[in-house]
Amino acid sequence: MKQALLGKTLEELQQVALSVGLQKFAGKQLAQWLYVRRVTSFDQMTNISLKGRLALEQQYTIGRHQPVAEAVSQDGTKKYLFRISNSVSGLTSNSSAYIESVYIPDNDRATLCVSTQAGCKMGCKFCMTGTLGFHGQLTAAEILNQIFSIPDSNKLTNIVYMGEGEPMDNIDHVLRSLQVMTADWGCAWSPKRITVSTVGVVPGLQRFLQESDCHLAISLHNPFGAERQDIMPIEKRYHLTDVLALLKQYDWQHQRRVSFEYICWHNLNDTVRHAKELLRLLRGLPCRINLIRFHAGVDQTFAGSDEKQMEWLRDYLSDNGITTTIRRSRGEDILAACGMLVNALSQE
Ligand code: SF4
Repeated sequence: MKQALLGKTLEELQQVALSVGLQKFAGKQLAQWLYVRRVTSFDQMTNISLKGRLALEQQYTIGRHQPVAEAVSQDGTKKYLFRISNSVSGLTSNSSAYIESVYIPDNDRATLCVSTQAGCKMGCKFCMTGTLGFHGQLTAAEILNQIFSIPDSNKLTNIVYMGEGEPMDNIDHVLRSLQVMTADWGCAWSPKRITVSTVGVVPGLQRFLQESDCHLAISLHNPFGAERQDIMPIEKRYHLTDVLALLKQYDWQHQRRVSFEYICWHNLNDTVRHAKELLRLLRGLPCRINLIRFHAGVDQTFAGSDEKQMEWLRDYLSDNGITTTIRRSRGEDILAACGMLVNALSQE
């Protein structure tokens, strides 16, 4: 099977150039074609000899492919469906799988929420994606293809790794994609424009903290371990307290930012008791909290907090020293909001 060039580092592209009989410096040219000019075929690489292009084409693909379906929300949010197959590492079935990405325009910002796995293993009780089960790790090429191949790609100002899957459970490919996005030889984006989220998979998180300068978002959702584990099985394996102890070893005053995602449920995690424990746990860690409205999915046993309670929680936490905002919900009508990615477009 041919390998994709998308996702390869400068050093690897130099090796690719040498292996097809080109000079080492052609590796830099390849990086420019792939990551700056963002070509979709070898024909477009006009400063590489015809012989070289033919040799490349025999052994490699670019790794680019278009979304196969799209849905547009009343609020302008767009959801894209990508079909992935052979290039997915560890695909659990022989057939192809689908993933979704969500484009969220907002005044002068335009954010893309990308997937890092097909489905997810983590099984968070409140998340519709969790019901899909796990279908495979996305390669760096498949992660980058979402960013490069949506129609509004050149309008993007921010990227969040918050789509299908747990990024820290696919850390090699996630780090590789971040490297391509931020390296001088790649897309040269500031790491401050990219946020990677996690439920707290500690080994992957450790590598992320050491090898990337991008922002971090932790899905917290309940400050009490016993209650958190009822809705997030990961708590049984990696405790939130251990995740926080790890984070407190890093310098968060400068450069990168850590935020905590907190879906609000009526009486389940929006009470004074929870607010006080949140403050206690996060003391000493410069951070912010994003309160998220719950989008009822398959399991109607969860009921979201009402607006008044969310505002109370926001004000209580903010008044006690943690900047807290209520995140505006986007794309709910097309199942594009947080935790709603179930590849529904593939059945349309
Ligand atoms: Fe997976 Fe994230 Fe959904 Fe949890 S919330 S099941 S980690 S996609």
